[in-house]
Amino acid sequence: MVWCPPPFLPISDSMNLTSRPLRLTLYTLLILAGAALAAGFAMRHAERQALVEDAARANEQLALYANSLHTLIERYRALPAVLALDPELIAALDGPLGTEQQGALNRKLEKINGAAQSSTLELLDRTGLAVAASNWRLPSSYVGHNYGFRPYFMQTRSQGTGRFYAVGVTSGIPGYFLASAVHNSAGEFLGAMVVKLEFPELEREWRQGSDTLLVSDARGIVFIANQPGWRYRYLQPLSDADRAELQATRQYDKQPLTPLAYQAVRRFDDNSYLARVDGPDGEQDYLWESLPLTAEGWTLHLLRKPQAALEDSRNAGLAAAGAWLALVFLLLFLNQRWRLARLRQRSREELEKLVEERTRDLRTAQDGLVQSAKLAALGQMSAALAHEINQPLTAQRTQLATLRLLLDHGRVDDAHKALGPLDAMLTRMAALTGHLKTFARKSPSGLRERLDLAAVVDQSLHLLEARLRDEQISTTLHLARPAWVQGDAIRLEQVLINLLRNALDAMADKPLKHLEIRIEADQHLWRLTVADSGGGIASENLNNVFDPFFTTKPVGDGLGLGLAVSFAIVHEHGGRLSVANIPGGALFTLTLPIALEVSAPC
Ligand code: ADP
Repeated sequence: MVWCPPPFLPISDSMNLTSRPLRLTLYTLLILAGAALAAGFAMRHAERQALVEDAARANEQLALYANSLHTLIERYRALPAVLALDPELIAALDGPLGTEQQGALNRKLEKINGAAQSSTLELLDRTGLAVAASNWRLPSSYVGHNYGFRPYFMQTRSQGTGRFYAVGVTSGIPGYFLASAVHNSAGEFLGAMVVKLEFPELEREWRQGSDTLLVSDARGIVFIANQPGWRYRYLQPLSDADRAELQATRQYDKQPLTPLAYQAVRRFDDNSYLARVDGPDGEQDYLWESLPLTAEGWTLHLLRKPQAALEDSRNAGLAAAGAWLALVFLLLFLNQRWRLARLRQRSREELEKLVEERTRDLRTAQDGLVQSAKLAALGQMSAALAHEINQPLTAQRTQLATLRLLLDHGRVDDAHKALGPLDAMLTRMAALTGHLKTFARKSPSGLRERLDLAAVVDQSLHLLEARLRDEQISTTLHLARPAWVQGDAIRLEQVLINLLRNALDAMADKPLKHLEIRIEADQHLWRLTVADSGGGIASENLNNVFDPFFTTKPVGDGLGLGLAVSFAIVHEHGGRLSVANIPGGALFTLTLPIALEVSAPC
């Protein structure tokens, strides 16, 4: 393929980049750069698009996770409130509690806990001391421990209900504490009924997906995570007040809190962004979706590795680069075609110009030739005329001198006799000029009349009647009548007389003198033939008889103009004149178009 610059990047020759390989390299580099740009742009766009779509999907999933967490908590929300109404529990807190009564309470809570499938149930008195608990049998039993410092207890005492996520100070197991106040019939605050929920199952369930799921508290501390290493990381800096409060409430007790370093790379909205996280698995990009759980004051996070997005963007990049290259090659192809078409057009134009020039040259040459031919003809004619006229003129001068002498001597009779040759010579000269006049004469269009060719033959025979009789010519006529043609009667008669005279000349010394004239129709033509018994024409002369000044007759007898003039006349009438030899003589054939009956005479 012939390489050519793309039309969108015109580089003028004046840029001195005339070296073809250099230009080729430059264009190749430009095309590749364009492909890289297109790929880069498409990749970024596709990546962003894929990320946005992925984020929307992750957000939907996040809502499902939030829902499962919410449902789990809701299932137990009413449990402490219902138990707080239990008269047995109220009685236990209202009066002094005996060991037996305490044991019965412990067992009761244990049973209810088992039935409700909660983690732990405990009953706190008005100071926050655990008087009974479902885990009374375990070494980590709450019984006897005071939880008055826990926020859920303080909330319950002041507001009637309380909730708090914390690591158990006794068990060391984190959980969500839901508490409800226990009042006596007088409405006095007696203590709190507390249910503790742990989420090991939820975490296990969440662990099944490849996403990282985190729940952070209002301070941004992650307390639930489905992957190891993420728990007890704080997402935002903790203030001194925060730390003091954490200390006081022992919310995460002895668990060390470490920051989670991350940086938003691209933000889609407030709760959706692409982040570079220095997590437990090292630095990694995550699609980070957050959903605030307003009821608990928590935030649920979903972190997803944006792998699909990368793959999609790579494909988009390749596709864009491919499309770019296809476009470039298409443009190159079109450009090439356009150039070829232009080249072809230019070649055609040049060729046309050349043909025009050559035609003009030829015409000029032809004109020149015609001119030369004319000049040659003029020269020939002049020579012939000079020859034909000079001789009689000289003779006439001599004759005139003789005449004058005779008249001087009074020899009138001799002078009279001498006039004879003079007359003959003048007649001959008149015949010569007559021929030339016929030749030169252009028939005015008015003389084109509808005439009968047979009548023209009749008239010509009539004019030659004396000679035919004198030379004893036998004549046969087969004339179709009327043979209508369109033309000039006088000129056609001239043709006929020429043909007949030639025939008579040819038969002059022949013993058999027979003339046959025919007129017959041949399709749309009239064919007139004049056949004689004059011995015909020598084969080498057959092609020349129509040439001007061609004659085989002795000087003084023939001018060689008869047939040339006749040929021209017939031609002018739209007909043809030809000659052929027949046994014993020559046959001249004249054809003329048949004039239609309908055409009125002009
Ligand atoms: P010219 O009669 O003055 O010679 P034409 O042009 O009429 O001139 O004829 C040219 C020549 O053609 C004649 O000289 C003669 O040789 C030849 N020719 C014409 N008609 C006949 C004929 N019927 N038979 C033989 N020769 C002929």
